[in-house]
Amino acid sequence: MDQTAAPPTEPSWLPPRELEAVARAAQPAYDALEARLSQVHAPADVATVRKAYRFALERHGLQTRQSGDPYITHPVAVATILADINMDIAGLTTALLHDVVEDTATPLDEVRKVFGDEVARCVDGVTKLGKLKMASREERQAESVRKMLLAMVTDIRIILVKLADRLHNLRTMSALAREKQERIAEETLEIYVPIAHRLGMGKMRGQLEDLSFQLLDPEAYLQVVDQIENNRRASEGFLSGIRATVEEKLREDKVPARVEGRLKRAYSVWQKLKRQKVKIEEVYDLLAIRIITDSVKNCYAALGVIHNEWHPIPGRIKDFIAIPRPNLYQSLHTSVMGPNGQAFEVQIRTEEMHRLAEEGIAAHWKYKEGKRGSTQDDQRIGWLRQLVEWQREMRDPGDFMNTLKVDLSQTEEVYCFTPQGRVLVLPRDASPIDFAYAVHSEVGNRCVGAKVNGRIVPLKYGLRNGDVVEILTQNGHLPSRDWLSIVRTSKARNKINHYIRTVERARAIELGQKHLEREARRAGVQMARIGSEALEKVAAEYGYSKIEDLHAALGYGKFSPRQVINKAVPDLVPAAEPPKPATAQPGAVPPDDDLIITVNGMDDLLTSLAKCCNPIRGEAIVGYVTRGRGISVHSARCSHVVNLMFEAERRVPVEWTKGSTKPFLVRVRIITDDRPGMLAQFTTILGAENCNIRTLEARSADDHGDDSATVEMTIEVKDKKQLEKLQSSLRRVSGVRDIERVQ
Ligand code: MN
Repeated sequence: MDQTAAPPTEPSWLPPRELEAVARAAQPAYDALEARLSQVHAPADVATVRKAYRFALERHGLQTRQSGDPYITHPVAVATILADINMDIAGLTTALLHDVVEDTATPLDEVRKVFGDEVARCVDGVTKLGKLKMASREERQAESVRKMLLAMVTDIRIILVKLADRLHNLRTMSALAREKQERIAEETLEIYVPIAHRLGMGKMRGQLEDLSFQLLDPEAYLQVVDQIENNRRASEGFLSGIRATVEEKLREDKVPARVEGRLKRAYSVWQKLKRQKVKIEEVYDLLAIRIITDSVKNCYAALGVIHNEWHPIPGRIKDFIAIPRPNLYQSLHTSVMGPNGQAFEVQIRTEEMHRLAEEGIAAHWKYKEGKRGSTQDDQRIGWLRQLVEWQREMRDPGDFMNTLKVDLSQTEEVYCFTPQGRVLVLPRDASPIDFAYAVHSEVGNRCVGAKVNGRIVPLKYGLRNGDVVEILTQNGHLPSRDWLSIVRTSKARNKINHYIRTVERARAIELGQKHLEREARRAGVQMARIGSEALEKVAAEYGYSKIEDLHAALGYGKFSPRQVINKAVPDLVPAAEPPKPATAQPGAVPPDDDLIITVNGMDDLLTSLAKCCNPIRGEAIVGYVTRGRGISVHSARCSHVVNLMFEAERRVPVEWTKGSTKPFLVRVRIITDDRPGMLAQFTTILGAENCNIRTLEARSADDHGDDSATVEMTIEVKDKKQLEKLQSSLRRVSGVRDIERVQ
C-alpha cells in the first residue's frame, strides 16, 4: 500500500512537542513493523496496532530504559519479535501496551475502553506475570512457578508476549548490574526456556538459551562459539560435498526438497560437552544437514535416498513422524557414515513440521485469520493437548501426577505468592491461616489478619490462584481453637493443635498442683511435708516419669487429688468429707453425681453429666476430659461428642457405677388432645411405675393452632429401660399424639 499518505479515515497525528525526539528515535523500528504488517493484515487492523503504538508512546513519554534508550523502543521490539511468529492483531496490540499498566499511571479500565476486552485481558495477564519476582532459585520453586504460570494463563498469547518481553530484555541488558544480569539469565533458563521448549518453540528457546548462556558465562560462551566456528570451517568442504550429493540424488528420485546445513547452537553444544564429557569433534550431530520436503511420503523417500547412499549407524534412526516428541516436534533423524569414515546427522521433515519445530504453538493460529470462533476453539484444544503431551515428558511419576492435577483439573491446588514473590502451593480453598503457617509457624501463631492483593480479607477467605498474600501479625497474639474449622492444611492443623495442647497442658499442671495442695490442706498435711520423693513414687505408680505429668493428669481430672494424697501419705486418716469439685460451675450437677459414673474402674473422680444430652443410666456414654471441671459425661449419641472428640487423648472410657440407685431427672414433652382427664391418666401411669414427678406444666397449645395441648414434666427415672417403658405406656393413652424427651 501507499506508505506516504495516511488512509483518509486516519486524522493526522503529531506527537506532543516534548515527545518529538522520543518519537523520532522509535519511529524507524515501528515503521518497519508496520510495513510488514501491512503486507498481511487489513488496513483497519494495522490502524489498531498504530493506535496502540501511539498510546504507548504517549504513556511511556520520556521514560527511558537503563540503557538510556526511550522506553517505547522496548514494546516496539517485543511486538516485532511476535510479528516474526505471526502473532495476531490483539497479541501485537498487547505487546505494544504490555508495560503501560505496570509502568505508567494508566488504569487497566482505560486500556479496556480504548482497545476492548480481549486486549485488556491479555495486558492484565502480562502485568500480573510481571509482578512475580521469583525470588528463590530452587529447582522445585522453578517447577512451581512454571506450573503456576500455566494455571494462571488463560490465554496463550499472554505467555508468548512474556517470552518475547524476556527475549528483548536479555538482548538489551548490558546496562544492568552484573548481578542482576545473572539473576535474570538464570531465571530464564529455569523458567522461560522450559516453557518455550514445552510449547515447541525451538527458535525462541534457542535464542533465550544462548543469550542466557552468554550472560552467565561469557568466557565459556565465546570458547564454544569459537570451537563451533572452527569446526564449521574445517568441515565446510565436507558438508558442501555432502549437500551437493544429496541434492543430486533427491533430484534423480524426483523428491522435491531444499537442503540446508544445520548449525547447532552454542548452549546445546556446551550442554553436550558438559554432559557427555566429550571433545567437540566427538559431538555426533555437530555436522548435520536438514532436508525439507513437501510431504510425509517424501520424507521417507528422502530417508531411503540417504540410506541408499551411506551406511546408517545402528540405533541412531529416530522416527519422530510416527511418534512425535511430547512437544509435538516431528522429523526423521538418522546418522550415517560419510566419506572418510566421517559420521554426520540428517534431519528430514516437511515444511509444516519445520514451522512447527521453530514456532511451536505459535504456528497453530497461522493461516486462520478471520475465523474467530473456530480459531479460539482450536487454540484451546491445542493448548490442552499440549499440556497433556507435556506431562509425558516428566520423568518422576509423582511429579507427573501433581502436574496433571494442577494443569488439567485445577481443582486441587492453588498457587499464591508472598509479597516477596515466593510461590506457595496450597490446597484449594486454603485460608490465609494456612498460608501463614506455610510461611513459618511463628507467622501462623501470630497471625491476626491478612491482605490479599492489597485488600484486607477475613481469615476464612478461600485463596485463589495468583493471589498475593500478606499476613498481618501481632506480637503476643495466639492461635485460636476456631481456626481448626477454617484451615485446610495438615501443617496448620498440627501446629494449632500442638499449640493448644501445650497451653492447656500448662494450665492443667497449674490446676493439678492447686487441687493437690487444697486436698493436702483438707487432709491436714503440708505439701512440703509430703516431699517430692513421695510424689515421684506416686507418679511412677500411675506410669509417669515426672511429677509435672502427675500434676497435668490431676488437672485434666484423670484421677482425684484424694487418691494421690492417700497414696503419698498411706498412714493418713481418710478425709471425712468427700472432695468438692475444685471449680464448681453454677448449675452444675451436684457433687454426689460422681458416684454414679466409674472412670477406668475408679468411682471417686470428678464427673458431671453433660447438660446438652443429659445421659441416663443404661445409655451408652463417653467421657471427655474438660479443662479443670473434671470429666464431662455425654451420651454416645450426643452431637457434641462428634465435635469434641477429635482430640482422642482427652477421651476417656466411662461406665455407670453398678449398684447405684440414684434416680435421673428427665424432661418429657407430651403433645395430646386438649380434653379433660388427660393429666389424671398420665399421673396414674407414672404413679403405677413408682415414678416421681418433679415439675409439671400443661398449656393449651395455641402454637399448634388446633385443639391440642402440651404437657411438659420433669420426672425421676431409674434408667433408660424405665423411661422407655413409661414412654410406651403414655403413648398408648388415647388422645396422645406424640412424646419426646427434651434436652
Ligand atoms: Mn516489558
